[in-house]
Amino acid sequence: TFGRKALRFCRTNALLLLTILAVCLGVLIGFTCAPHISDNDVKYISFPGTLLMRMLKMLILPLIVSSLISGVSSLDSKTSGKLGGRAVLYYICTTLIAVILGIVLVVSIQPGKGAGKVNRTGQAPSVSTVDAFLDILRNVFPDNLAAATFQQFQTVLKEVTPEVVNGTAGNDTTVNDTMLNDTMLNLTEPAKAYVTEDGTKDGMNVLGLVAYSIALGVILSTMGEAGRPLINFFNSLNDATMRLVWVVMWYSPIGITFLIAGKIIEMYDDLSALAGALGLYTITVLVGLAIHGLFVLPMLYFIFVRKNPFVFITGLVQALLTALGTSSSSATLPVTFKCLEDNNGIDPRVTRFVLPIGATINMDGTALYEAVAVIFIAQVNGTPLDIGGIIVVSITATVAAIGAAAVPQAGLITMVIVLSAVGLPADDVTLIIAVDWFLDRFRTMINVLGDSIGAGIVAHSVRNELPEIEGEDVEMGTATQ
Ligand code: ASP
Repeated sequence: TFGRKALRFCRTNALLLLTILAVCLGVLIGFTCAPHISDNDVKYISFPGTLLMRMLKMLILPLIVSSLISGVSSLDSKTSGKLGGRAVLYYICTTLIAVILGIVLVVSIQPGKGAGKVNRTGQAPSVSTVDAFLDILRNVFPDNLAAATFQQFQTVLKEVTPEVVNGTAGNDTTVNDTMLNDTMLNLTEPAKAYVTEDGTKDGMNVLGLVAYSIALGVILSTMGEAGRPLINFFNSLNDATMRLVWVVMWYSPIGITFLIAGKIIEMYDDLSALAGALGLYTITVLVGLAIHGLFVLPMLYFIFVRKNPFVFITGLVQALLTALGTSSSSATLPVTFKCLEDNNGIDPRVTRFVLPIGATINMDGTALYEAVAVIFIAQVNGTPLDIGGIIVVSITATVAAIGAAAVPQAGLITMVIVLSAVGLPADDVTLIIAVDWFLDRFRTMINVLGDSIGAGIVAHSVRNELPEIEGEDVEMGTATQ
């Protein structure tokens, strides 16, 4: 009967339904409580959400290291080379498509033209493209693994002192203490939360950990019996971590409710920005993200896999809502793993290899947003970019998206690279800060979707080339059943 079917549906999809409910409840609580709660008390409302963030972040280190090492070491170097190559090709192509889509939209909609007066909030740091690029490379080679688990390089941060503006500061890019202190004072709130007093980014150097884990995995795969104990150790760590993920996922609806409610309460006074001068800009970004997520990526999936992309996306809803709640693709990573392996049946050897890399460097939503934002800023300033400028934007937006850490509002910081590349003042980042917290949530969803569809396509492309799972490797699948 219908009743029994509905009941069964609810039971098998309980967690998903709870998460959807959590998002709705969060919005509802946010709007009803906002007028009655002072800024100081928001932290009490968001507390259950803060706990969720902390739990998810706690899982990132063991998850990334164990999944990559066990994934890579289970493949021979030829297969992992092929997997990695295809994944990177997919990342580059889809990021570029996203950037081009964003550019086409913002140039045709022209949200900055009639924007009227846009208020500035806060100040921004200045970053040069070369420095930013070197920074990414430097992060690939962490000199200290223990430090890499809590800090990234950020040598690109420079104070916009008169010397720098006038070019009299010379080529010396080192940041001295006074410059840094001044810069810290001038930073916007999201930037402050992200840059520590000694000029390093506060947050795990995921890129470095990814690089180290891949290298170790490749070496282990060539060591035969001698490498077995370590491979078994990381397989087992991975299975155990995935079980922990399962526990945290059952807590996540509560966390998501209060993350969303807390953010709405905190931003309540600024909500008008979403409708005012920044309204058309917000809509442009959202339309771009929607086209990319509901049309471009599904079409790619269909072309390569020949299956219904929306069935695949339905399996990912839990991860997408976690991205919406947390604003961070790395915090969402544990859930993305679960969705891809359990709901969509993607081979764990593929997810373990490509997901941590994707979450770190593949950000379609961020790339699209950076392109739209910079061209919007140029329009507001009344200096629309010529074709040369637009090409520079497409390249630097891609670099900026790769360089952005998978944490809340990281894209806002790396956008300074794109701005300075086309000669716009870095401070203009402050024009769009008021709505960034909102757009961040949606671009993070698209970042996660891009990584997941990539994993699906790559897994399909190597389906006949992966060695049979045999002997001890069988245990790889246990956590996912
Ligand atoms: N919050 C985004 C992410 O974690 C990065 C960004 O700020 O665009 O994927």
